[in-house]
Amino acid sequence: MRVMKFGGTSVGDPTRIANLCDIVSHSLQRRPVVVVSAASKVTDMLLTAARHAKDGRVDPSPIESRVTALLSAFDLDPSLVHREFVGLRESLEAIAARAEATPELLDAVASYGERISVRSTAAILRKRGVDAVHADAFDLGMLTDANFGGAEPLLESADLLRAGVAALVEQGKVPVVTGFIGRTLDGRVTTLGRGGSDYSAAILGAAIHADEIEIWTDVPGVMSADPRVAPDARTIPVLSFHEAAELAYFGAKVLHPKTIHPAVKRGIPVRVKNTFEPDHPGTVITAEGDRDARGVRALAHKRGIRSVNVVSTRMLLAHGFLAKIFEVFARHRVVVDLVSTSEVSVSCTVDKDDGLDGAVRELRTYGDVTVTNDLALVCVIAAGLLEDPKPCARVFAVLAEENIPAQLLSMGASAINLSLLVPDAHAERAVKALHRALFSEPS
Ligand code: ASP
Ligand code: MG
Repeated sequence: MRVMKFGGTSVGDPTRIANLCDIVSHSLQRRPVVVVSAASKVTDMLLTAARHAKDGRVDPSPIESRVTALLSAFDLDPSLVHREFVGLRESLEAIAARAEATPELLDAVASYGERISVRSTAAILRKRGVDAVHADAFDLGMLTDANFGGAEPLLESADLLRAGVAALVEQGKVPVVTGFIGRTLDGRVTTLGRGGSDYSAAILGAAIHADEIEIWTDVPGVMSADPRVAPDARTIPVLSFHEAAELAYFGAKVLHPKTIHPAVKRGIPVRVKNTFEPDHPGTVITAEGDRDARGVRALAHKRGIRSVNVVSTRMLLAHGFLAKIFEVFARHRVVVDLVSTSEVSVSCTVDKDDGLDGAVRELRTYGDVTVTNDLALVCVIAAGLLEDPKPCARVFAVLAEENIPAQLLSMGASAINLSLLVPDAHAERAVKALHRALFSEPS
């Protein structure tokens, strides 16, 4: 069996849905289990409707229009999802009645995006000759804890899901299963958190011992750099779980490590594929990755970073100093990423300003504090960085040639990650030059 997960854009317009149908039709011999998200924007529209309901305005019509338009492009009647719209209205009315959108009611409302999506997608697949059947994941056994908005599946889900899916696949059906949602033991609908459909696909794939989990997106797998910045960026054929996890911080193009962990732990490969190029192998992520990989594997960058530097002569030989500083950040809920220390100072990066002012004010009681804005984080993922000095040497040689100063280096925390900061204005030039130099020849 193979899990094929399609995100919001793949079920978001008629052309893309037709493309999805073609991709699934060509995979029938692999016994696919399809997982889909809500059509793009629908989850946001549902959450907006919930906010309006709280203010007394119950109006699911924007979602109804969006869904009706999609269905009518395939000559399907909206009555197909009539029950879901009744349920959605009831949940919105419950919010209006108490003038409060509890996490539980928000999950109930948000769940309808995926519940509608599986019914529409399965009906469209059937019209195109695929024996598809829709399923709400909770009816197949996706049981979760009651942590609404970010629920975690219960251990017993695996056996239930395996049996639930097998019952359909053994009848020759192609199940089309909701991503994102589950249900508590006492029957209340939950969501696994925004973007949770990838996680659903991995949990399902692990439960049914799929031979592979395909995450279909609209990019050609995981790229060696952002192709908008480095035009010679290429697809990385094989990535280890650790490499994927290091890259995940840099954005939505790479799967969140939590998402794929259930699959990787069971030795099930997760493959990122491009709906626009279905025959391209994309990127496969496995526990081990490419054991023969050498040198630089990928570059990633993130702009709009700021750094905080605390200099304190009192830090000299003082125990507990770092703990004090990070306790201040923690209390102000400032997320710290890179950290670098010297004998009398600490520098770290933060990528948003919420809470920063308060934290900085407090940090001034420990020493001189400087905040530097307009920086960018550049991260080099390379195999064996701790044994092989060449990738580092080349990175600094390229930066020197380009006359781009680097600051706040971090290396050694992971054997595969070298991160540094450059001025934001030079970030793209740095990535472009590094990619050109590091990928044009074996390093
Ligand atoms: N529809 C959900 C969201 O927008 C889940 C997902 O797309 O993965 O967050
Ligand atoms: Mg997603």
